[in-house]
Amino acid sequence: MPELALLEEVVDKVRPLLGQGKVADYIPALAQVDANKLGIAVTTSDGVTIGAGDFLEPFSIQSISKVFSLTLALMLYEEDEIWSRVGKEPSGHSFNSLVQVELEKGVPRNPFINAGALIIADLLQSRLGAPKHRMLEIVRGLSENHRVSYDKVVAASEYQHSARNAAIAYLMKSFGNFNNDVDTVLHSYFHYCSLRMSCADLSRAMFYLANSGKSLAGKQLISPVQNRQLNALLATSGLYDGAGEFAYRVGMPGKSGVGGGIIAVIPGDMSVCVWSPELDANGNSLAGTAVLEALSQTLGRSIF
Ligand code: GLN
Repeated sequence: MPELALLEEVVDKVRPLLGQGKVADYIPALAQVDANKLGIAVTTSDGVTIGAGDFLEPFSIQSISKVFSLTLALMLYEEDEIWSRVGKEPSGHSFNSLVQVELEKGVPRNPFINAGALIIADLLQSRLGAPKHRMLEIVRGLSENHRVSYDKVVAASEYQHSARNAAIAYLMKSFGNFNNDVDTVLHSYFHYCSLRMSCADLSRAMFYLANSGKSLAGKQLISPVQNRQLNALLATSGLYDGAGEFAYRVGMPGKSGVGGGIIAVIPGDMSVCVWSPELDANGNSLAGTAVLEALSQTLGRSIF
C-alpha cells in the first residue's frame, strides 16, 4: 500500500519531464490549461484516498469517460447487444481514425477509440430518456462528489470542432451500425468527455474496477466477471496504440484522455489517477505515464 511520502517522491522524480510533451490544442478550452500541472491520487482497498501534487484540481476527463459509458452500457444491455456492434481488439490506429471503420464495415475495433465510444453513446441514447443526466448521477455517486459537473464551454467547443467524430458516426450509419440521430448522440458524447473531475474524484470513482465491480459505497455496478472482462479490454486497448508500451512500462489496466488524465487499477489492491496535460505522440499523458511507471516499480506491483 503506497504511503503519502512515496507519492510525493514519485511526483518530484517525474517533474523534470514537464515541458517534453504537447498539450492537446484541437479546442481552445484544452489548449489554455497550465502545462505544468502534475498530480496523483490513489484509493486503496480500504477505501482511503491519498494524493500528491495537483490531485485536487478538476480537469477535463475526456476519453476516460469511455469507461463510465461502457460500464453503463454493461448495466443496461445483454452482452451480445453490445459486442455485435463493437469489437474487443486493439486498433493499432490513432484514437480518432476513420480508416479501420471503413475497411471493417462500420464495426469499430473496441469501445475505447472514438468510433467504439460513439457506438456505446448510441446504445445509451436508445435506452435512456436522459443519458446526460443519468451519466452525471452515476459519476457523482461513484466519486461521492456532488460538485462533479459538465464543462459547458468544453462541450460546446468540442461540438464546434466535431467534423471528424461526425464523419465517423455517419460512416458507421452508412453501414447500418448507428441507430439514433448523429447530432443527438454527438451532443451526449461531448458532454461525457467534458466532465470535470480531479485525480481524487477519478481514483474514487474507478474504485469499482479494482473491487470486483463494487463501488466505494458498496453498490455492485457490474458482476465480478464483467469487471474482469472490462479490465482486460482496458489492458489491451485503454491507451490506444500506446497500449503495448503502457503494459510494458506500467503493467496495469488503464484509460487515458487527451485532457492529460490516466486512470489505472490493480485489481484487489488500488485504483489510481494521474494528471499532467502534456501528451506523448499517442495522445497519452507523458508525465502521467512516467508517474504510474515509477509507482508500479517502487511498489513492485503490476498485474503481470
Ligand atoms: N473529446 C475527444 C474526442 O472525441 C476525446 C478524445 C480523447 O480523449 N482521446 O476527440
